[in-house]
Amino acid sequence: MIEEVKDYIKELGIEIFAIIKPLDFSFRKDYLIRWISSRFHGEMDYMARNLEKRLSPEKLYPEVKSILIVGIPYDTLRWNDIDKKGRGLISKYAIRRDYHRVIKKKLKKILSFLREKNSEIQGRIYVDSAPVLEKELARLAGIGFIGKNTMLISKKFGSYFFLGELFLNIELEEIKHPPVPLLCVSCKRCVEACPSEAIVKPYILDASRCISYLTIEYRGIIKDELENQMGQWIFGCDECQEVCPFNRKNKPLEVSLIPDEKRLANIKLEELILLRKEDFEEIFKGTPVKRAGYEMFMRNVFIAAGNSGKKELLQSLRKREKDFLQNPIVYHHLLRAIKKLENNCSE
Ligand code: SF4
Repeated sequence: MIEEVKDYIKELGIEIFAIIKPLDFSFRKDYLIRWISSRFHGEMDYMARNLEKRLSPEKLYPEVKSILIVGIPYDTLRWNDIDKKGRGLISKYAIRRDYHRVIKKKLKKILSFLREKNSEIQGRIYVDSAPVLEKELARLAGIGFIGKNTMLISKKFGSYFFLGELFLNIELEEIKHPPVPLLCVSCKRCVEACPSEAIVKPYILDASRCISYLTIEYRGIIKDELENQMGQWIFGCDECQEVCPFNRKNKPLEVSLIPDEKRLANIKLEELILLRKEDFEEIFKGTPVKRAGYEMFMRNVFIAAGNSGKKELLQSLRKREKDFLQNPIVYHHLLRAIKKLENNCSE
């Protein structure tokens, strides 16, 4: 049956996949405990919860006998194609259809395919939705190595790919690839490129400083120091991946794009500052950007505007003052942006 499964997975356009037995990750326990006690998870308290489940797939799904891991590359757009000046930057993964849905759909199809062969088969699909150490699983299945920026890196596909898992209650023959050694060697481009110094040491990420966390997960007032380091990122950040030599090659496109991907990567700050809630909902429909919510998205836009040094944005920023009076977080960053640009003007 394993050959049929493999063929079906390939038919779905999935090039990265492996099947492994559930593994015990207790060897990561000390590392995780130290990481959490250093508060590197910021306010992502769910990272601190369910530690035992994270370390043992059986605690998450007691019937699990094998795990299918799939990866879908998504890098299509080159930042060099885009003039970053005056834009609000959105991480590449977010300027397209929400990958959770794309991968879930494919994994559901695989589960149905298996159930057609044997109706006893049951499974659980996880795409960022449960405490799964997915990068570790993928590494142990030989899909890649974990780089100094803590991303999973495939020699062939770099790090721009999504992961999803299907936990199964049957023992399928393993499909493993030869282990990939740590290939960072003496490179430290990502460590040096991170604008907010979030990679505190090679292989250790202080997520509470990471621009992805700050723009997506963190919903409060961002400290001035970090705010200044966020540059023009308004949702996520690709800096540590862009400099990685493993991301230099062009990858095949696997995830269907929303038709105007390039447009989303190109929206000018001027336009974003004046964005109304209805426009936000419409423009980012079906993309991960919706996850930030309108208010937090605008907080990020105002931060980017303040960091842009573009005094011509002042007029639009001032127009939004009364709209955010009721939201102290967004209002704080709006006023900071105005002040920063006014100070730039007087310099
Ligand atoms: S940029 Fe260099 S150090 Fe960082 S993950 Fe890539 S290869 Fe490793």
